[in-house]
Amino acid sequence: MTPGDSFRVKTLAACRICGSDELLPYLDLGEQPPSNSFIRPEDIPNERSFPLTVALCGECGLSQLLHVVSAADIFDDYVYLSSTSKALCDHYQGLADDAVRRFQPDDGAVIVDIGCNDGIMLTRYPRKRFRLLGIEPSSAGEHARKAGFEVVPKFFARELGSSLARSHGRARLITATNVFAHVDDIRSFAEGIEALLTEDGVFIIEFPYLEEMLEHCYFDTVYHEHLSYLALTPLLRLFEDCGLRAFAVERVEIGASGPALRLFVSRRNARFPTDAGIPGMAVDERRRGITSVARYREFAGRVASVRDRVRAVIAGLQRDGHRIGAFAAPAKGNTLLNYLRMTPADIVAVSENNALKVGKVTPGSHIPIVAEDAFLRLGVSHALLLAWNYVDFFLKNSAFIQQGGRFLVPLPEPTLRP
Ligand SMILES: [Zn+2]
Repeated sequence: MTPGDSFRVKTLAACRICGSDELLPYLDLGEQPPSNSFIRPEDIPNERSFPLTVALCGECGLSQLLHVVSAADIFDDYVYLSSTSKALCDHYQGLADDAVRRFQPDDGAVIVDIGCNDGIMLTRYPRKRFRLLGIEPSSAGEHARKAGFEVVPKFFARELGSSLARSHGRARLITATNVFAHVDDIRSFAEGIEALLTEDGVFIIEFPYLEEMLEHCYFDTVYHEHLSYLALTPLLRLFEDCGLRAFAVERVEIGASGPALRLFVSRRNARFPTDAGIPGMAVDERRRGITSVARYREFAGRVASVRDRVRAVIAGLQRDGHRIGAFAAPAKGNTLLNYLRMTPADIVAVSENNALKVGKVTPGSHIPIVAEDAFLRLGVSHALLLAWNYVDFFLKNSAFIQQGGRFLVPLPEPTLRP
């Protein structure tokens, strides 16, 4: 099988939350291959690209990709194991402790984590006290199973929620962190939650907040794997339509992915009063223009301006005789490289220590990925930092900087450091 063969693509005809056909494109990042599809140089002729365009639903305010690309499991290789991050482990410990303290599930209660990955969240609960269940369609679930958890290897949806309610009993707590943005049929997902929650059950989700992307110009979070860019307003509509109710919201920092929202959801008639933070945030979103496309097109203008300025810095450095590289190869780095239209003539190599990526090329831009020791021998003076959210870590720890190199940090503003 070649890398291009297993993709299916569809164009959205209607909003995945409210069904409106008023989808207004506002950010066009060009045609790009899916961001995680790092390939071997010999597979370049088989590479496929798909439009990467974000549209606003003028009815409910959901930002969503106009084209949904689904890959079979060929890139499962890159599955990210959450438990390798200490910051994430601490984050989930806080979430589990807080949920048990606030909602006091009885001993033996069913607790479900959807998108459980390697079991990072399930591990945070007192294991003997509750009946813990993970849902994980990717091969990461194998790690959770080896750690002794029961894991259902499926995508969560209406039917699975109903059948689990019958087979395991309904759940007192359900968590889904960094999952919602990846779900195509989000209504079926919410209906599955409604079927699975007990009368006083609580569903907790965490997701990157659209307002942060707009405010700080974090457009590299846009890639094919992220189908929706979430805010409170469209989710209130979704939950209301599906017999659920969001009753509290908090802003949180999630390890590397940065600022996020944590939303607490129950069945519509559950005993939890709706916190004032919910209508407060909804009013705030309306005031900023959550359904007004002009506001999003202004954002797209700032994105184009950042692109032009990053390109100008790179061109200036090249004119001065510098050799330019890139540093780290996260999925989001490919949105940036492709939108900047970078080629191996602009960027000689990417330094990345993940052995699964070394020896391959970046999707679309085809820049060779090399380990850091090889990178240091290339005579690169400046490196575009693709994992720019880790700038402080890399400034302190990378041999490239210690040997006199400098980073071009692209976002939120192009800056040279140190
Ligand atoms: Zn909508």
